[in-house]
Amino acid sequence: MTVRVRFAPSPTGMFHVGGARSALQNWIYAKQQGGVFVLRIEDTDAARNKPEWTEGILSALDWIGISRGSYEGPYFQSANAGEHRAAAARLYESGRAYYCDCTREDVQARTGSQYQGYDGYHRDRGLGPGPGNALRFRTPDEGTTVVVDLIRGEPTFENKLIEDFVIARGDGSPVFLLANVVDDMTMGITHVIRAEEHLPNTPKQQLLWEALGVKPPIWAHVPVVVNEKRQKLSKRRDKVALEAYRDEGYLAGAMRNYLMLLGWAPSGDREIVPWSVIEDEFRLDEVNLSSAFFDEKKLRAFNGEYIRALPVAEFIDACQPWLTGTGTIAPPPWQPEEFDADAFAAVAPLAQTRIAVLSEIVPNVDFLFLASPLIDEAAWTKTMKDGSAELLDDAVAAFEALESWDTESLKSTLEAVGAERGLKLGKTQAPVRVAVTGRTVGLPLFESLEVLGRERTLTRIRAARLRLV
Ligand code: GLU
Repeated sequence: MTVRVRFAPSPTGMFHVGGARSALQNWIYAKQQGGVFVLRIEDTDAARNKPEWTEGILSALDWIGISRGSYEGPYFQSANAGEHRAAAARLYESGRAYYCDCTREDVQARTGSQYQGYDGYHRDRGLGPGPGNALRFRTPDEGTTVVVDLIRGEPTFENKLIEDFVIARGDGSPVFLLANVVDDMTMGITHVIRAEEHLPNTPKQQLLWEALGVKPPIWAHVPVVVNEKRQKLSKRRDKVALEAYRDEGYLAGAMRNYLMLLGWAPSGDREIVPWSVIEDEFRLDEVNLSSAFFDEKKLRAFNGEYIRALPVAEFIDACQPWLTGTGTIAPPPWQPEEFDADAFAAVAPLAQTRIAVLSEIVPNVDFLFLASPLIDEAAWTKTMKDGSAELLDDAVAAFEALESWDTESLKSTLEAVGAERGLKLGKTQAPVRVAVTGRTVGLPLFESLEVLGRERTLTRIRAARLRLV
């Protein structure tokens, strides 16, 4: 039997990191089993779906390595509406479902409680189809439904506690629960790997499989991803959109590796491992049963390590979208014609060791491309003290006299300027750095000055000196 798994997102918002994790788990499982990964877009909630969300899902999957053309689909749930209706009709005709016209209030009045589920009032009343009549599934009165779950063993549900749930609404439209089962069935899905929030639906869905005469799939309900307060990640509260991480400059390789480490770890206490190791070693049944903390700080640190591990040429390539402002990435503060690829290549190795996300490249190198630096006024006030004007005068004079404009000479020259005033190099550097780059932190100063060149360096220090008059 060929293993067939599916990832079945609903296109109702930005694609979520939790969804990306489920997709990767399905992807790896299919690969390990020599199986097939099916992508199905569950777009039956017409009011909440938008085509751009579907496009967002496809491109985000592509970004993390589940590339278009390498899976089966995408199928669209809405295209199977006929199958969903036919299944509802089959269940009615075989007596496994019955019509009901009770309102919530009717049920409440009979049971005396708003918390009680449906009481089976119409089970044997023979109500036929008609406008406003919902179709309910007749759940077994006794016995248990045992779900085979690769992560949880065999969760067992008492059938008598499962209410006769609605499978088609009063307007005849099948509900999600049924559509999802019918699609899995028609697509030959053998393993359903999804978030644990769907577990309460599973016994109902398994009963539907059985009632429709097909062997249910093997399930795997993966614990959800939570924030630092152990709340389920939410798009209103947390940064959850995969695209937001991509646009901030997380590397796809770091992101997908990190997502797989939520609730699982490769052997040998390692975290940074090649993707191939994760593909080999990942086991669904090793996924931790408690919810997994999505730690953005850790992800940042992780990403920094991935950035540092890139060959410089790849790092330079990876920075391009931020240097030019491509797609959804904001343009940099310089004009395209101001950008100097050689100057960038000269400082790239210095930047590569300092940034954690690729978007941070921009404030680190903007001084090289702008006609005058963007001065951070707070940094200016903090740095420019009594004596700074004279220090800058001396720096200009000393730099003007330099024969060779290189890192070593620049450093020893400024060190000597400071030493005359009894200042350590750090203190001497600070006003020069603010004058030239506009900031108190950044790339190593002397390398930066070497790349910036004599003329521009001197012009900037003189301009800062004039502001201090
Ligand atoms: N469309 C459902 C969701 O996005 C998928 C349910 C499932 O995986 O069975 O939550």
